[in-house]
Amino acid sequence: MQGPDGANDYVRKILRPGEGLLLELEQYAAAHHVPIIKPETASLLIVLGRLVKPGRILEIGTAIGYSSILLSGILAAGGRIDTIERNEEMVIKAHENIKRAGLADTIAVIAGDAAEVLRCLDKKYDMIFMDAAKGQYPEFLPECLRMLKDGGLLVCDNVLYKGMVAGDEPVVRRKKTIVNRMRSFLDSICSDPMLDTSILPVGDGVALSYKRRETEMDK
Ligand code: SAM
Repeated sequence: MQGPDGANDYVRKILRPGEGLLLELEQYAAAHHVPIIKPETASLLIVLGRLVKPGRILEIGTAIGYSSILLSGILAAGGRIDTIERNEEMVIKAHENIKRAGLADTIAVIAGDAAEVLRCLDKKYDMIFMDAAKGQYPEFLPECLRMLKDGGLLVCDNVLYKGMVAGDEPVVRRKKTIVNRMRSFLDSICSDPMLDTSILPVGDGVALSYKRRETEMDK
């Protein structure tokens, strides 16, 4: 999303550019129209990750493995990432890239639709990154909250969906369902008493939700 002041464009210009395999994957994604996180979202994830120091991360939406490889850099020692992807070609590409990065023992790609896969997982995660079909976010939420540790962080990308979620302009018909579902999703994470949520106009819009510990419930 380009903010009214072009802030995202400016931020993108001054951020440290990617290098090595990550840079190569950025170039591949651009050439093959694979939607990966924007540089300003990547830098936000890194800063948050450094603060959280997660032992376990769950990602929904692997694509070619770019963000999971990026996130592996902020894992605590011995940490692991589980990442879910439903597109078979993407799963193959992600496996290839993760192997090239030497991270096959750190990142597990789970092939399948997250709506089904999430129900079968029963691990606890310090950080969950939701970056898949926007219309399914409301469906993913209860499972993510079940598996997010107290004191853990839920990060959801694309929540402002090209300005359509927050805008006053009428939304074109074929996007209406997604926009309505995203608004209802944002209402849920903002009104949940277990969560402290902040919505940032970074990239395409990022929602951060901290899951309170029991001792923090009334504060
Ligand atoms: N997180 C990746 C990155 O930044 O490198 C980009 C993910 S891309 C925006 C979204 C991916 O989610 C696509 O590859 C798509 O196939 C996948 N996806 C969408 N809905 C899904 C679902 N219900 N279950 C699993 N994967 C899904």
